[in-house]
Amino acid sequence: AETTAASGWNGVGATQDGFRVKVLANVGKPEDARAAADAGAEGVGLFRTEFCFLAATDEPSVADQRTAYRAVLAPFAGKPVVVRTLDAGADKPLGFLGLAAEPNPALGVRGLRVARERAGVLDRQLEAIAGAAEDSGAEVSVMAPMVATAEEAGWFAERVRAAGIARAGVMIEVPAAALTAREIFDAVDFVSLGTNDLAQYLFAADRQAGAVAALNDPWQPALLRLIARVGEAAGEVGKPAGVCGEAAADPRLACVLVGLGVSSLSMNAAALTMVGATLARVNHDQCQSAARAAAAAADPTAARQAVHAALG
Ligand code: PEP
Ligand code: MG
Repeated sequence: AETTAASGWNGVGATQDGFRVKVLANVGKPEDARAAADAGAEGVGLFRTEFCFLAATDEPSVADQRTAYRAVLAPFAGKPVVVRTLDAGADKPLGFLGLAAEPNPALGVRGLRVARERAGVLDRQLEAIAGAAEDSGAEVSVMAPMVATAEEAGWFAERVRAAGIARAGVMIEVPAAALTAREIFDAVDFVSLGTNDLAQYLFAADRQAGAVAALNDPWQPALLRLIARVGEAAGEVGKPAGVCGEAAADPRLACVLVGLGVSSLSMNAAALTMVGATLARVNHDQCQSAARAAAAAADPTAARQAVHAALG
């Protein structure tokens, strides 16, 4: 608490003029969750459940899943936690699903697309999450990865509610989902922008390929313009849009995201203090002018320079 006080971060995310922004953590394992709680996270914006079962060769039972999820939720009793259902495929193969090899795995059957083929796997996971929520006292909501259409979002939300979980959301990490955010919001309670995959699919640039890393720069104005559309849709419908990709961990870019209409930022525990402290030093209208300047810039370098000038 002393180090956070010294840095200007008091554990409640807000701009200097009091505009609330939840500062949340990305976690995968119980030790991440404990580190995030110790670092002052207000909750969890992304719990990557696939990280619990990377080594499993058979589908974990509902009881085993419940135990694994409970261990991650425990440090956040009484606090919001967004649990993401399995995001298998592409860069995160999950042995127990026995997915077929594909020529273009990032464009194939991954994330929610797996759940649609194996609805039983999803339903058993939802049952375990509902049980772990009850055990831990965390305020759990559930979201799906790799959603492309409002129809998919509606299918998922219906299954989440059937499992007795009150809040359902989806990740926006496919450009088609960003462009149809209004319709997606009709089906769910919240969305969370996954800027890592959103950049990959927007620029047709593999997120794991160093040679195209410059295209995957989260300061790319085209990416910021797409995020702005989601932020506008969130404002119109009065539902929250968060960011849980790496972009949220960059303090100045976090301010830009707030200016684009994002209401929560989720990041690795190590970034919480810097992002929280940076937000506390700027006003909301500065975030909005920084956002306008960054989105209008010609390239990432110009966007960074413009935001540096706007925020100091
Ligand atoms: C993302 O794509 O930005 C994201 C947060 O999910 P992951 O990195 O797990 O794909
Ligand atoms: Mg992703």
